[in-house]
Amino acid sequence: SRTEPRGSWSSGSSDSDGSWASLYRVVLLGDSGVGKTSLVNLFAGVQDKDVPEQQIEDTYERTLSVDGEETTLMVMDTWEAEKREDNWFHNYCMQVGNAYVIVYSITDRGSFESASELRIQLRRTRQAENIPIILVGNKTDLVRCREVSVEEGRACAVVFDCKFIETSATLQHNVTELFEGVVRQIRLRRDSKEA
Ligand code: GDP
Repeated sequence: SRTEPRGSWSSGSSDSDGSWASLYRVVLLGDSGVGKTSLVNLFAGVQDKDVPEQQIEDTYERTLSVDGEETTLMVMDTWEAEKREDNWFHNYCMQVGNAYVIVYSITDRGSFESASELRIQLRRTRQAENIPIILVGNKTDLVRCREVSVEEGRACAVVFDCKFIETSATLQHNVTELFEGVVRQIRLRRDSKEA
């Protein structure tokens, strides 16, 4: 089976003995300035002992060992890569992810509202699919500038049926946990499909 291409994008399946890592595409969404690039840069450097694999423009690939199992995430920070008038590229982003990380800044209520809109758009685009979505409130270090409370973030995640975490890219707080959470959410769905 080693001559076969690595796990397909949609299923991320690995062979039965799990001898190579599953591969999943994770798309970062969110307003400009909320910290997407900062988060993905930390992801890219999270496990320095790993040999960096490939970096294609704004896409970062790393293999994470979570709960004793390896999973490769390709994280795409391309949401703002193309300033197109038409929505082609955003629609493309909405289609290609195996999981989504929707980021807002806790210091910017507008970005929190955008996050809800993105969640709605995603649900519309990927209606029938139960794709993992993590809502991320970033910049928790800016305590005095907070405009969105933890409770609001959590409540929003409940309403929109996604996971929730607050992070600080600056303090490197909860960033590893965020991407490990993505892996666990992907596995939960994979395992329930197999059951
Ligand atoms: P993007 O436009 O969503 O990719 O956001 P960037 O990663 O480029 O970050 C925008 C600005 O916010 C930069 O000046 C970052 O240094 C800053 N930033 C990102 N994350 C944090 C954070 O957790 N705390 C603070 N204080 N600043 C942050």
